[in-house]
Amino acid sequence: MVSVVSRALLEVRDLTVQFGSGGRAVRVVDGVSFRVEAGEVVALVGESGSGKSVTALALARLLPEVSGRIGGGEILFEGADVCGFSPGALRRLRGGRIAYVFQEPMAALNPVFTIGFQIREVLRLHGGSGDREAELLRLLLAVGLSDAERVARSFPHELSGGMQQRAVIAMALAGRPRLLVADEPTTALDVTVQAQVLEVLLGVQRAEGMGMLFITHNLGLVARVAQRVLVMYAGQIVEAGPTGSVLRSPRHPYTKALLRAVPRLRGGGERLEGIPGVVPAASSYPMGCRFHPRCAFARERCAVDVPQWEELEGGGGVRCHYWRACSGSGGGVAR
Ligand code: SF4
Repeated sequence: MVSVVSRALLEVRDLTVQFGSGGRAVRVVDGVSFRVEAGEVVALVGESGSGKSVTALALARLLPEVSGRIGGGEILFEGADVCGFSPGALRRLRGGRIAYVFQEPMAALNPVFTIGFQIREVLRLHGGSGDREAELLRLLLAVGLSDAERVARSFPHELSGGMQQRAVIAMALAGRPRLLVADEPTTALDVTVQAQVLEVLLGVQRAEGMGMLFITHNLGLVARVAQRVLVMYAGQIVEAGPTGSVLRSPRHPYTKALLRAVPRLRGGGERLEGIPGVVPAASSYPMGCRFHPRCAFARERCAVDVPQWEELEGGGGVRCHYWRACSGSGGGVAR
């Protein structure tokens, strides 16, 4: 194991993730850097295909072995570089110090075992030496499953989608993680239970003092959830900063366009604006700025010169040649 001093719970430095090999290798994640402190929620936002989930999987080296690999950079978790972990250290890390909650609870639960059995397994592998039955019931109650004994005896298909996702959160907590990676944790649920599950997730995060990386395509959720936000596009972080400042004064045209696509209940019937086009595949990222074919602020230089990351006062940064000129303008949506 390689030890490197880092004060953050998680510090990702210049991470590159490749898929494929040789001349066909493509960089799905390209030079991504960010930190998550203990007790902090950081949101990673972007459209589907921007590289958010691949970044999340790379943190515990969960990439598909045959095709994906970390091509460069460092992932420092509690000061140690995950890239140098032995197989045994990785087993202890996954489901233990770093836990995941994914979009689809039924994909995380084994349909042939009861909820209680599955949580006991995590307690056996990663929990302490205390009373496992008491801990199982405590976890189920902590995520709002008040009929804990019945839920523990139930098979996943006997629970509603919201209860399944609560059980998945309880299972994630069973290993006493210091970092929880929540990848679109409410997207697959009915609208009526999304808010409840989100409150459960944030409640346990605060109670346990965990760091959380909250992945979403919905910038509207971020204000409720995160202290800092990272905006990802085509494998790169294009803007980062404190949530309030990014949402109030977005610098990057892509962030502005995402904000204009968020529905609002109040606001006098403003038109919602989608972002034209789609996120390009990693095999065909455009030259220059990767957002330029979709950006209303693009100039000739944008199709040629790659914008570099620029640190901003007050924390965070932006990757755009013309962010100063774009600031204060309306949305960055090409027409
Ligand atoms: Fe738009 Fe140019 Fe900025 Fe890219 S660099 S976001 S194309 S203005």
